[in-house]
Formats: sequence, C-alpha cells, structure tokens
Amino acid sequence: MTKRVYNFSAGPAVLPLPVLEQAQAELTALPGVGMSVLEISHRSKTYTEINHAANQALRDLLSVPDSHKILFLQGGARLQFSMVPMNLLRGSEQPADYVLSGTWGKKAIEEAGREGKVNVVWDGKPTNYDRVPADDDLKFNASAPYVHITSNETIQGVQFPTEPDTAGVPLVCDASSDFLCRPTAIEKYGILYACAQKNAGPAGISVVIVRDDLLARGGDDLPGYLNYRNHAENDSCYNTPCCFGVYLVGLVAKWLTDEIGGLAQMEQINRRKSQMLYEAIDASDGFYIGHAHCDSRSLMNVPFRLATDELNSLFLREAEAHGLCTLKGHRSVGGMRASIYNAMPEEGVAALRDFMRDFQTKNG
Ligand code: PMP
Repeated sequence: MTKRVYNFSAGPAVLPLPVLEQAQAELTALPGVGMSVLEISHRSKTYTEINHAANQALRDLLSVPDSHKILFLQGGARLQFSMVPMNLLRGSEQPADYVLSGTWGKKAIEEAGREGKVNVVWDGKPTNYDRVPADDDLKFNASAPYVHITSNETIQGVQFPTEPDTAGVPLVCDASSDFLCRPTAIEKYGILYACAQKNAGPAGISVVIVRDDLLARGGDDLPGYLNYRNHAENDSCYNTPCCFGVYLVGLVAKWLTDEIGGLAQMEQINRRKSQMLYEAIDASDGFYIGHAHCDSRSLMNVPFRLATDELNSLFLREAEAHGLCTLKGHRSVGGMRASIYNAMPEEGVAALRDFMRDFQTKNG
C-alpha cells in the first residue's frame, strides 16, 4: 500500500487518519445498516441520526449556546460571501463594516458590494497584508448591519489572536481556515462560517453557525436555498445535503473530542506545532523570510520564502523527496506555505523543521 506522506496543503487538506480509517471501514456498509452513507436517503432514520450526531458533536465541542443554530450548507465559503449580505445587508441604508486583512477578505467584500453598501474599516494593503489590525485601529459604525472579519487569512498566514469588540454590532466571521483550531466564544458571533475542507472535513460542505435573531432578517424575496431560515427550519435538509460531508464532519468532531481531548488541548498542540516553524524561521538569520508580522502569526498557515526563486524551487523539490509535500506557496505571496491544520501530526511539523535546518546548513 502507498505510504502516506506529510501533506501541507492549504485545502482540501490532511484529515485525521483515524477518521479516514473509520470512513473506509464503514464505506460499503454502515454498521447495522448494510448500506453506505453514500447510498441512503437524507430522509432516512440513519441519516437523520448522523446529521443530529454531527450537529451535537460540534455543539458540544464548541460549546455553542442555545441561541445559535448550526447549519450544514453547500457552495463553500464563497457562497457565504454572498449569503451573508443577501440575508443581512439587502435593503439596508447603512453599509456593512468589513475588515480587509488579506485575499479572502477582499473577495468577501467584492461579493457584499453586489448586495449593498460596504465600508472598509481597515485595509492591511500598505504592509502587504502582513498583519491583522490592533483593536485601536478599528472604529465600527454602531448602526452597521454587521461587521465582517476573516479570522485567519489562509494565503497571508495572519490570524486574529481574538475577536474584536464590535460593541453590540453582529460580528460575522469567515473562519474557514482556523475553525476548530482553538476554543471560540461563539456567543460573541452573529454568524461564524467555515468551509470544511481545511480543518473540519471534505470539500462540499460548510458549517454555518447563526444566531437565532439573525435568521429573521432574510427577506422572502430571496431564492429559497439562499435564505438561512429555510436551512434552520429543516435541520439542514432543505434540499439533499452533502450527506457524506456531514458524516465526516461528525467523525472529525468526535476525533477532536475523544482522541485530542477538546479544543483547549487542540490549541496547545497547534501552538507547539506553529512554534516549531516560527522558531526555525526566526533562528535562520534571515535565510527564511516569514510573511506575517510576529503579533499576527497564524497557528494554521505559515508562509515563508527564500532569497531567490531558484532556492525556493530547490527547497520544494528536495522537501517533496523527503515526503514533505504540497508546500508551494500561493502565487501572490510566493515561496512556501506550510499549512499545519489540526490533523497534521506534530511529527510532520518536526520533520519539516528538521528539513529546514538541514537545507539551510547545505545552502545557507
Ligand atoms: N475563505 C477562506 C479564509 C479560505 O481559505 C477559502 C478557501 N481557500 C475560502 C474562503 C473559499 O472557500 P471555498 O473554496 O470553499 O468557497
């Protein structure tokens, strides 16, 4: 059988091995059912149980309060770039406040602009999106329908250390690339959404956590699928959901709970992992150049580069030969990007750190 390599892809990304193994074992016949999760009706008792179990596992893991619904939707995080303003901004006189901390925040703003007025409260462009704003940099409009942030910019590797205080204005967050990486105070959010294919499951499913009072804001003129209310009222079975994705998200949540011991524990592990790489960058005397400012460094995505394109290419080639794969950085930042999501084992990060040291010794 082909050996698994260390996969540093930004997403779709590495999944926990025990989750893949359980899915493999159950793929042809769910225990006691005799049919695959891929083959059963979304109205069946079995799927209803899978759906509820996944929902409950996430609710317990994140301590989601009763005031919020957890929805499983399709269309990726990008559809949320549109659904959020369709439901919360359409028809509003007041602009929505957006914090622009990188590539994905920019795309969210572009989509919101199709639905209504947008006020960019802060833009990290002057320093090439190498940091998130400090609290003092943010002045929100108290009448804004919502404030939108991207908690972790996957391409630039900058992450909010904690959520900004919006003084009562609903906070909406694209948490696609740091969902479940640490405990999160869901009660502070109006909407928190994440595509699953980084930290929570496969591509094709997004988790959207919505505060109940915001469900009422979507107008009846919205297409049915695009109104959050329809999904909330139908337990995420308004249409045929991504059943296999929901099943896998449930397994990932269970893995985080049973094997890792919860999100506080996961955060400790993620801190250790990211620290290994940031220390290697900082100890390299400028051989490795990190993108993110120290205060804004992400626990999940670590972009770094070398002085020349030739060295970057050599690094990527040799890393691959060592089983350290998919490290190529996004073209807009260049160099390398190590995505070290929850499922990347500490040994994988240690192997990359050791490789970085050896590579410097040989080429520095
Ligand atoms: N937001 C962030 C922070 C992302 O990293 C991504 C995907 N890389 C997206 C949004 C878009 O997700 P999707 O492709 O699922 O629409």
